[in-house]
Amino acid sequence: MTHEHYERFRRLLDLTDDYLARGIRRKRPQRADSSRVASDTRASQKEPAHEAAHEAAHGAAGLGRQSAQTASERPDLSAGGGDRQAAHTALQQEVTACTLCPLHRERTRAVPGTGVLEPRVLVIGEGPGADEDKQGLPFVGPAGRYLDDWLAAIELSRTENVYITNVVKCRPPGNRDPLPQEWGACNSYLSRQIALLQPQALLAVGRVASGVLTGSSDGIGRLRGRVHSYEGIPLVATYHPSGVLRNPAWRRPVWEDLKQLRAIISR
Ligand code: SF4
Repeated sequence: MTHEHYERFRRLLDLTDDYLARGIRRKRPQRADSSRVASDTRASQKEPAHEAAHEAAHGAAGLGRQSAQTASERPDLSAGGGDRQAAHTALQQEVTACTLCPLHRERTRAVPGTGVLEPRVLVIGEGPGADEDKQGLPFVGPAGRYLDDWLAAIELSRTENVYITNVVKCRPPGNRDPLPQEWGACNSYLSRQIALLQPQALLAVGRVASGVLTGSSDGIGRLRGRVHSYEGIPLVATYHPSGVLRNPAWRRPVWEDLKQLRAIISR
């Protein structure tokens, strides 16, 4: 349709509308040239299109959207992303070769950690178990699968927005608690991981990790249920998944802790 045809058609519609409405022709403000209107329309469509692309890139409303907002508040990693990746790889290699404490003697593999490099949540357990020691990955046995269920319940996952590690990176023999000199020796790796990953929140699972990160000797029953701070980062403490598998009565408090974590990262 040419511009002239379009204008004629529009006038006809106006007349029909006037007739049906009141039987007289109404005065109308002069309309902008249709070619200009089309151009303006295309221009105004840029914003919604941009918004749609933004949504597609950063996820739907809710947690994904919050993630985009939070990322914009963080230091610009567009140039440093490669640096972060390189720093992470170097840290992993350092842990893998570490002999700073006696735990290196009996390990099969060190377990530095796994997950995304800009996590919303950094999950910290106490140390690798037998499965983790074999595979070199944290939380891979039944407790790990249970932890994945917890995370999924609040729209988190180790493949999308979580990083998982432990306070010691090598398995304590017989799954005993890590000794203070062991987690003391290993602490610099955890500190560097937190500084590198800049999570929105920390989730300490179990008595040992919660005690190390809060500096408290209280049991997990007293440490959970409130928000702590680790170097300015909100920290939620809860029971260890393996403990909850043995004691289903802890499911309810864990769910309360997870809701608290979700509230923190949704701010
Ligand atoms: S537990 Fe930590 S400090 Fe000890 S050998 Fe392993 S990586 Fe090194």
